[in-house]
Amino acid sequence: MVRPTVARVDLAALKANYRAVAELLARDAPGPPPGIIAVVKANAYGHGAVPVARALEEAGATMVACADIEEAVTLREAGVRIPILVFGALSISDLSAVFTHRLVPTVSSPGAARALGDAAAARGVRLPCHVKIDTGLNRLGFRHDNLWRTLPPLVSHPSLEIVAAYTHFATADDPTSHLFETQCRRFLQAVAALEALGCPGVARHAANSAALLRDRRVWFEFVRPGLLLYGVAPPALAGTPLPVRPVLSLTSRVVAVKGVRPGESIGYGARFVAPAPLTIAVVPAGYADGLDRRLAGRGHVLVRGRRAPIIGAVSMDMLTVDVTGCPVAPGDEVVLLGAQGSERIDVQEMAAAIGTVPYEVLCRLGARIERIYN
Ligand SMILES: *Cc1c(COP(=O)(O)O)cnc(C)c1O
Repeated sequence: MVRPTVARVDLAALKANYRAVAELLARDAPGPPPGIIAVVKANAYGHGAVPVARALEEAGATMVACADIEEAVTLREAGVRIPILVFGALSISDLSAVFTHRLVPTVSSPGAARALGDAAAARGVRLPCHVKIDTGLNRLGFRHDNLWRTLPPLVSHPSLEIVAAYTHFATADDPTSHLFETQCRRFLQAVAALEALGCPGVARHAANSAALLRDRRVWFEFVRPGLLLYGVAPPALAGTPLPVRPVLSLTSRVVAVKGVRPGESIGYGARFVAPAPLTIAVVPAGYADGLDRRLAGRGHVLVRGRRAPIIGAVSMDMLTVDVTGCPVAPGDEVVLLGAQGSERIDVQEMAAAIGTVPYEVLCRLGARIERIYN
């Protein structure tokens, strides 16, 4: 049984997007093209981590990256064989899966270095890891201005092998921000400090999707795209000519059509009042499916090839759209994200309508929505 509201995930589009990124890197890299660490955290941005990671592995990804150990274990257990980088802080985690499932941890604090080093020593292994440098995002990572004090215990730990150093940008998608340049400079200084501390030749990575499109100088040995692989160009760089296409579409079907008289309200709160006779269609998808309540009065769906405004209240399992003047019937396809006829609604549009970022729209797509892969 399949509910009417489904997310179709086009793995061929995902692979084509991967190839588009790989071709850009191969064409424009000054030296050997960087490897691609494909980011599949948060259930692959709502697309389904296992099928997405397997497809990216087939497409040739060097590595995939997860937010935490639990996500990484799910991928290993589903048969993903390429290296898996874990981004998150591990200082308070159960680390055994790092060893049993061959994960590559990020060391982002002296505490994590101790915990991972002790765990590796107890198992008699030398653990390859990536070190995270905080160059100005002020989230995880060794502070860039304190490395001479904090890195030596990590660098000299006999059970840890630093194979890469990385950082993450705060403003890669804002072409007017100067913090990006500052972070680049601090990162290069941090890598120089690592070398001076006896850790030469570590691989470097810094570029998420926006940074990758913004500046070739930050490609280094690896890049870490997420959003771009899902076919969504970062907002401020949406004009960038990289031929990616959206991987996910979200569709449903009309379950009821009815007339509303002038002066009658629609939905909870009775805040929307029909100014004239209206025809509304009921769509079985609501905020439990990740459709934000703020879409009411702001968002649209496509039905019969036309844009229909979402009116009334978005409720838990349903929303209502204005189809006045359009011959809509129960069973008609409704597109919430994707194309119908010559119209399309993309994730950027839905995100802008409710004042958020495309990432949030995708990640919030509910667990109740079946993902169909082709
Ligand atoms: C999520 C994430 C990425 C990918 O970011 P996109 O903007 O989706 O390309 C890269 N690096 C880190 C550390 C991340 O957390």
